[in-house]
Order: sequence, then C-alpha cells, then structure tokens
Amino acid sequence: MITKMSHLFIGGDWCEASTGEYFDVLNPATEEVIARVPDAGSVDMRMAIDAALAVQKSWASTTAAQRSKILLSAANLMRDRAEHLAQIMTLEEGKPVLEAKGEVTYAASFLEWFAEEAKRVYGEIIPANAPDKRILIIKRPLGLALAITPWNFPAAMITRKVGPALAAGCTMIVKPSELTPLTALEIAKIFEEVGLPKGVLSVLVGKDPAPLVKVAMDDFNVRKVTFTGSTSVGKLLMKQSADTMKRISFELGGQAPFIVFDDADINSAVENAIIAKMRSMGESCVAANRIYVQRAVLEQFTSKLVSKLAEFRIGNGLEDGVQVGPLIEPAAVEKVELHVADATKKGAKVILGGSRGTNVGYFYLPTVLTNVTDSMLITQEETFGPVAAVIPFDTEEEVLERANNTHHGLAAYYFTKDIGRVFRLAEKLQFGILGANDGLPSTAQAPFGGVKESGLGREGGHHGIDEYLDVKYVSLGGISS
Ligand code: NAD
Repeated sequence: MITKMSHLFIGGDWCEASTGEYFDVLNPATEEVIARVPDAGSVDMRMAIDAALAVQKSWASTTAAQRSKILLSAANLMRDRAEHLAQIMTLEEGKPVLEAKGEVTYAASFLEWFAEEAKRVYGEIIPANAPDKRILIIKRPLGLALAITPWNFPAAMITRKVGPALAAGCTMIVKPSELTPLTALEIAKIFEEVGLPKGVLSVLVGKDPAPLVKVAMDDFNVRKVTFTGSTSVGKLLMKQSADTMKRISFELGGQAPFIVFDDADINSAVENAIIAKMRSMGESCVAANRIYVQRAVLEQFTSKLVSKLAEFRIGNGLEDGVQVGPLIEPAAVEKVELHVADATKKGAKVILGGSRGTNVGYFYLPTVLTNVTDSMLITQEETFGPVAAVIPFDTEEEVLERANNTHHGLAAYYFTKDIGRVFRLAEKLQFGILGANDGLPSTAQAPFGGVKESGLGREGGHHGIDEYLDVKYVSLGGISS
C-alpha cells in the first residue's frame, strides 16, 4: 500500500513542501515503501512560526473551557479512529497492531487529562512583606513551543506535548521523526476536524531534521523546545537553546535496571519483566536493559522467562497473534547484534534467540542472555531491542550501587514483598520513574521524566502543564488598612 500524503500541515492549511521534494516511508516488516511525504525545508518552518505567532495572543486569551473542549473532542476522535491509526502506526513503525491500538488509547489519555488540567491553572495569594501590599501569583502561557518527537511511540510522544501546550494556551509546531511521519499527520487531521483555530498547531515532516529544527532554534520567538529522543541530540538542542534562552523539557534515553529480590512473587516478576522488556520490541526509553536477579531465585526466574519468551510469535505486526514486530531500521538491528556479540565475547551465554531469524524485514528474535556482567556494552548503553540480559546479584547494597552506576536515570523497576525495602529503594535509586512491583508505570496521571542525563522536566500529571506556563507575581501596593 502506498499512501501519498501530499501536504504538510502549516498554519491550519495543507500545503506542498517549499522544497518540492518528497521522501519515502518504509514498512520495517517488509522493507517496502508505504508512502511518500513532503520534505519540509526552512521556508516551511518559517511559515509555521509566522502562523503560530499570528494567533498566539488570541489563543492565549481563549477560556480554559474552550481549550478543554477542543482537546476533549480530539481525544474522543482519536479513540474513534483507533483502528485506523493503529494500522498506520504498525505499517510505519512495526509494533504489533494490538499494541499500536493500546498506544492510541494511551495517546488519547494525554489529551483528555490535559483537557481537564486546563481548568486547574490556579494562581496564589501570598502573605505580603508589608501591611499595604498584596502578592498575587498568576500563570500565563509561555508562547510558541517547538516539539521534536521520536519514532518509537509515534502518537503518544506527540499528544504528551500537544496536550499540555494547548491546554496552557501555547501554540505549537511539531517536528515528528522522519521515520514515522504518517501517524503525526493523522493527528494533525484530527485537530483540524475538531476545529482547532488555524495556526495553533502545525506539523512539519522533513528528511533531514538538523537544518529544519535549527530555523526554529535560532528564532527568539520560539520560547520553548520540548524534545523526546536520544541523549546526544538532547545535548545538542540544549546548547542551541542557550542563545535565545528557551525553556526546555527533555525526555531522553534510559538504561533501566529491573531488580528481582528473592522474596518477590517470581511469576509476577517474570510477567512484568516481559512487559518492561518486550513492549515495542524493547524499543522503549523505559525498557528493562539490565535484569538483576538475586542468586537464590536466579534459576527459577530465568527458566520461567525463557519458557514464556520462547512462545512469543514474531512477524509482521498486521498479522493476527503476532507479539513481536520488527525493529525500526537496519541500524537498530546492528546495534542489538553488537551488544549480543560483545556480551558473548566477554563470557555471556545465549540461552534463547540470538539472531535475526529471517532475511526480510528488520527483525531480531526475543533473546535471553545469562552470565552477563557490568563490563559489557549491554549493561552500559541503551540496547533498544528484545534482548533480556540476566545478571546475578547477592545483596541489596550491592545491587543498589550497580543499578545507580550509570549516567542515565529514567526508569528503574524492583520486585520485593518487603515494604521497608520498597521505601528504601524508592529513596535511593537515582531514577525519575520507579516501578515497585510494576513493569508498566507510564500513565497520563503521573509526572514522567528522568534525572541525570535522561532529561529535564516532566510530562504528564499536574506537573506536565507547568512546563508551558510562566509564573509571574504581582506586588500590589498602596492598599490602606
Ligand atoms: P533521535 O534523537 O535520533 O531523534 C529524535 C527526534 O530528533 C527525531 O524527530 C529526529 O528527527 C530529531 N533529530 C535527530 N537529529 C537531530 C538534530 N541534529 N537536530 C534536531 N533534531 C534532530 O532519537 P530516536 O532514535 O528517534 O528515538 C530513540 C531515542 O529516544 C532513545 O534514546 C529513547 O530512549 C528516547 N526516548 C525517550 C523517551 C522519554 O520519554 N525519555 C521516550 C521515547 C524515546
């Protein structure tokens, strides 16, 4: 199937790219071209900026109820279109269609959540420093925000930014990954259909992100950049933000430890390890990369994990019953191969999978490695693939130190029935998201984000909208008593 999406969504209109160029979108399961999309250039980015600035004031002065209504309608339309959106997502990203449908629901939940939060942007009155003064706090939208999103959650990473931005009264330009532009353009259609005023949201897709993004990064009027993607690009954008002092929120890479203590419910730990490891074929920023298992339950945990993963059906995500789809591109498969080869060279054993399993499509079989040590690449870098690296440990102190021994700090998981340990580790694990007996902590209600080199700022929860608001205070004088 080839879909030619012949337009970009700029200023509420569907236009050709100023470059006149198109680029191909591939299905990672078949390596076939599924669409050709316009390749936006700097002129298009300028047009999107101008369109947003033209409506920023009027959008900021709408009532919270008006913005809320639009977001809620978009959430509902997104749910109505779940099947259609999921098919498109599977075609361009590869995840099994059932999982893609789950992502659409998850994506819609951010629009719904922020539709509600729009109404709760409260101010404050603070006791003043003088009898004739009053101190009032108000929160105002910070203006135009640029959103740069990755391919691994092509819908949710967009709505997690568009939801709070629009709720706060900001305008937004979305630059999705060049690997998954189709889902992003479908989301633009939804906002058009629910009556979002022209210019409030633009969606630009381009083959070469650096020059396209740079136009917005250099523009003072773009007051914020919100980015989800790799730590290396995050560092580059942080430097680029400095010249115009933009507000930044960055959701970056992870290297999540998944710790199983010997008092844990092992069946539950296995089930949750599979969710934390295999969701989106392991291509998730919160994917369990290092599975630490206390020695007394090592054998039991590993054999249960292997027997469950051995039953997983791998294939084209559009086919019924497929649980593991392809990785996104050849480079992703090569990275997984590099991590497995490095581990086996240093003494790890492959007890399940360990190869591509097919010549067509960017597949890699669900894999389990044992005898893994902290000196291997797989325990140091983000693998982004379906490889479970099982590592034995002896004591709580030891595993805590090993888990924290990384520059990343996005998510960590631990399984134990000891309530004291639940609290101790919550305080001592240096990660922004902690799954205590939970392999799937992501939800619209909670503040998602990392510490250390995994990012700055939070998305979701009531915290998420603050990232799009300026806090101002009014010192009101001359009040006689
Ligand atoms: P990426 O950094 O390569 O790309 C992300 C986005 O940045 C894309 O839109 C891309 O076009 C753009 N980009 C790439 N180079 C750029 C440049 N020089 N200038 C401006 N923009 C540029 O990341 P990816 O491969 O798309 O996504 C995978 C990464 O994202 C992983 O590291 C993963 O952990 C991370 N991620 C993090 C979260 C989170 O919430 N913390 C969620 C999902 C993904």
